[in-house]
Amino acid sequence: MNALLKIFRHALNDEDNRLLMASSPVIFLHIACIGLFFTGFSWVAVVTLLLTFSFRVFALTAGFHRYFSHRSFKTSRAFQFVLAWVGTSSAQLGPMWWAANHRHHHQYSDQDEDVHSPVAQSAFWSHIGWVLCRAHRSIKYERIRDLCKFPELHFIDRFHVLPVLSLMCALYITGATLNFFFPGLGTSGIQLLMWGFFLSTVLVYHVTFCVNSVTHIVGTKRFATEDESRNNFWVALLTFGEGWHNNHHRYPLSARQGMYWWELDITYSLLRLLERMGLVWDLKVFPKSIYDEAASQPLGNQV
Ligand SMILES: [Zn+2]
Ligand SMILES: [Zn+2]
Repeated sequence: MNALLKIFRHALNDEDNRLLMASSPVIFLHIACIGLFFTGFSWVAVVTLLLTFSFRVFALTAGFHRYFSHRSFKTSRAFQFVLAWVGTSSAQLGPMWWAANHRHHHQYSDQDEDVHSPVAQSAFWSHIGWVLCRAHRSIKYERIRDLCKFPELHFIDRFHVLPVLSLMCALYITGATLNFFFPGLGTSGIQLLMWGFFLSTVLVYHVTFCVNSVTHIVGTKRFATEDESRNNFWVALLTFGEGWHNNHHRYPLSARQGMYWWELDITYSLLRLLERMGLVWDLKVFPKSIYDEAASQPLGNQV
């Protein structure tokens, strides 16, 4: 409760923040989920939820995080655009904004400068508070010089609402079309919008946010990093592999975050599949020296 009061006190100190919070899409999306109670259930809606959740989590973990933030593999300009577009449809702003803040997080992990540290600030702040704060809305271009040369990324970051609206329109049209031709499916445009966009986006928010909050609080610490990053199986499961956060903080350049086969990393498995299809290449992994270091740590190769 204290954490909640602290974030609101901090946010309400600034007039811009007051306006931002009142109009924040993050808050609006949570409230809009009430619509689920009025639009009914169908199996088409459940499948749509699973698909929109999975594709966007993958675009965030493989695209925004492992590719744009850490350059841990290479891809074509066309597939880079696809990752940027699908990731941005998660309503977490664009890849340049995301990568700049994330690189900042790695440089100042759990220090006062860290924008979302549960150690330096609070669990609530690290999970969602910082997202609502206007102070963190600008793009720190000096941190993403390598991305600045792509005009299409500037376009997506500037018009980040376009991928979001495109997804919303596609869902509505699909639902309305199915309702027209196959009324027995029990779906509709507004139902698919509710399940495939509003509920799905809120779930994507919280699993993504758990990497910033939970994996800096709960879990095991294989490496003696200077931050409080942790390995957490449950977050790894929900985020397709991002929960191996202590491994990741020890060696952020790796496209793989689970170090062993039993450290489930769905994103890495999918990246290997895309590699076979020729869509990505030059995946970086943990070097032998990191495995040797892991073996010499108290927690060794245990989860
Ligand atoms: Zn971290
Ligand atoms: Zn990272």
